[in-house]
Amino acid sequence: MKHELRFGMITELYSTVTGSRKASALDLLDHWFPGLIVEEDRSGIRKDAVYDDLQYRIKAVRVNGRLYTGNDSRTIQIIGRLNGTAKGNQETEQKTAELIRKHLAYLIAEDDHTAADLFDHVHEQLAALDDSVQQKLCTQLQEYALYAAEERTAMDEYTRVHEPFPMDEEVFSRIVYNVIYQTGLQTFRGLCCAWLWMLCGSLLRNEAGRVTRIYDSAWVPVFRETAETPDLADKIDYLQHPEQYEYVYLGDDLDARFPGVEWYCDHCTAHLNDQPGFDDHRNVWVCSRCGCENRISSEEIYDSRQDWYSGRHTNDPAKFRKAIRRRRKEKRT
Ligand SMILES: [Zn+2]
Repeated sequence: MKHELRFGMITELYSTVTGSRKASALDLLDHWFPGLIVEEDRSGIRKDAVYDDLQYRIKAVRVNGRLYTGNDSRTIQIIGRLNGTAKGNQETEQKTAELIRKHLAYLIAEDDHTAADLFDHVHEQLAALDDSVQQKLCTQLQEYALYAAEERTAMDEYTRVHEPFPMDEEVFSRIVYNVIYQTGLQTFRGLCCAWLWMLCGSLLRNEAGRVTRIYDSAWVPVFRETAETPDLADKIDYLQHPEQYEYVYLGDDLDARFPGVEWYCDHCTAHLNDQPGFDDHRNVWVCSRCGCENRISSEEIYDSRQDWYSGRHTNDPAKFRKAIRRRRKEKRT
């Protein structure tokens, strides 16, 4: 079995795990992205679903509770592209599907309400599942992402680039990483985040890059981009086996108590290191912007803002001190 980021494949995974009724691609698009791709035609007259170019939406009639797809071949092709199942080379329909993705990615990235509404919707849907099903979904999502990463690594360069509608390395990596990160938290919120990343990644494909550049895995706007993007396999390995990694400090700020650590206000996120008089030897620093008291201690150090937000603590104070000692030694010799 192949583990690809395609809408049809991951909604299939969902229905298998949750035992939900099989639904058409049109119904699933409407179910997971309500109001964003499908617009219900309430005329009451049964007719083929048609794509409206100006609104980037498919207009469809509901018959007996299900959206009616009908026989309009262009619309069927477009749905197939979005679902990631259609084959053949209908270039125009592929372009149309790209336009829909672009439009949707734009809404999710630029309009706060769209992203928040989507998250609430996913939250509501998953909250309705039994605990054991949630747990199973979490495990299966993580496995799926790990397999997807593995299969991609095993693929040779030629296949990766020449497969039909390939996904960019950067976008693929971020989606897969976000899913593994969030499912690894083993929390309900983490599951919601992971499932939403799967949905967005598989539907938006490369256009999801617009979204991953703006939100971190916890769907919190990205604070600061890290300069280097390590290899996906290394990132996953670090996520799953943090104890096997050592800290390295290469800077010269050896007078500081926590060399190389940037401090941010818990309340207003101001950069504390830049505030006049900041000294990390103090145990508490009062933010000069908002007045919030911030504790300055090794327990408050996280690898990233996303770790802080998710309460994911992998920082080992002993390793940190060791890295600083090592650096001091290097400087002396
Ligand atoms: Zn503050």
